[in-house]
Amino acid sequence: MSAAIAIAGALLVAGPAGASPVPVADPTAQTAQTPLERQILPTGNGWASEDTGTTGGSAAEAANVYDVSTKAELLAAFATGGNQPKIVRVHGSIDANTAADGSPLTCESYADGTNYSLAQYLEDFDPATYGRDRKPEGPQEDARRLAAAKQAKTIRWDIPGNTTIVGATPGSSITGAALRINGASNVIVRNLTLRDAADCFPAWDPTDGTEGNWNSEYDLLQVINKATHVWIDHSAFTDAPNLDSSQPLYFGRPYQVHDGAVDVTNGSDLVTMSYNRFSDHDKLLLIGSTDSPTRGDPGKLRVTIHHNVFENVGQRAPRVRFGHVDVYNNHFKVTEDSAIPYEYSLGAGFSSHLYAEANAFTLPAGVDAAEIIGRYKGTAITTTANAVNGKITDIRAEYNAAAAPADQLAEDTSWIPALRTQVHPAQAVPALLKDSTGPVFTAGGDL
Ligand code: CA
Ligand code: CA
Repeated sequence: MSAAIAIAGALLVAGPAGASPVPVADPTAQTAQTPLERQILPTGNGWASEDTGTTGGSAAEAANVYDVSTKAELLAAFATGGNQPKIVRVHGSIDANTAADGSPLTCESYADGTNYSLAQYLEDFDPATYGRDRKPEGPQEDARRLAAAKQAKTIRWDIPGNTTIVGATPGSSITGAALRINGASNVIVRNLTLRDAADCFPAWDPTDGTEGNWNSEYDLLQVINKATHVWIDHSAFTDAPNLDSSQPLYFGRPYQVHDGAVDVTNGSDLVTMSYNRFSDHDKLLLIGSTDSPTRGDPGKLRVTIHHNVFENVGQRAPRVRFGHVDVYNNHFKVTEDSAIPYEYSLGAGFSSHLYAEANAFTLPAGVDAAEIIGRYKGTAITTTANAVNGKITDIRAEYNAAAAPADQLAEDTSWIPALRTQVHPAQAVPALLKDSTGPVFTAGGDL
């Protein structure tokens, strides 16, 4: 807390980008008895603890503590109180795909009045008829965009800075929302389940991959546009019960209605993800969305990912460009009957610095240790003391042994992560995390 000045038992910390100082709780006052929503990120707990640390809305005055159980209440809480520290306690289940009066909105509701018809869209852009060069444009693509804009306006919600949002109980959830931390600083998300941010209107891109792909817009939580100091803890992220595997194939490709789970992009920085449960999702954690340096990514995208469980995740856990990303003590589990095809876990992208230590990988027969790493223009990665099915395994050596010479990855000797809590032996990780990830807390205060 080097930028902090002690004044009469409180602290004043400079806000983001020169904003006037806001009062925050004295972090030294935090004890085991501190209610969930008043807790701050402990010192030394990952990149989000760098310099001023992450306090979220822990110091909120009573007037800025909100108990919400509907979408309207949640959005009103986000919109109130300006930059003041704010606590939002979510009760029960909130569904984003609902109208102002709380009635459910379906994909058909958004398409109403736009002339969008999936059947017509499929007819207009069928590569079997028009070839792979025909990019969607014209009335049906215009209609799709209109309908998609209506859904985006309904489900895309920005969490403001200096905010702590928690599930009031382990059962609290938000379904269908594309939450964002959009250019904001100092946000804590804990004890909350975020599920199924399905896009009603996937777009066909005939030039994506060799066969074309359906692409969707929404991440469950997007950290974007120079957002900084974000702590995501003891939360759950999943597509269930709406898995992409239950969607049809169109044009021979999966009609994928989900994008990322937590994506960190566009110059965002200083994020810690701890004790979360990520499950049943394909493209999970994208850190850096482009190889181009123009979005402010070089030197940013510093993320710590520790003590999380990844169960039946297809790829990008994480996939990194530019960032210095510390991945330790996580449990990656792929089950025999996973509905999500396993591609890889750790993606070494352009100019990436991934450091993977003491993680446990539980893989079924048919998935080899060589598949854990994927190379996407990266040149180096550090892996140390990881375990595969209980046995300490050099996963970079396994990867290199199976990779073509041009795809070899060197050891990344450019950095050693600091800002760590205790590092456990990889073999202890599965038992350690068995019942301790995801929402497990009950908030304090007057419930
Ligand atoms: Ca996408
Ligand atoms: Ca995304």
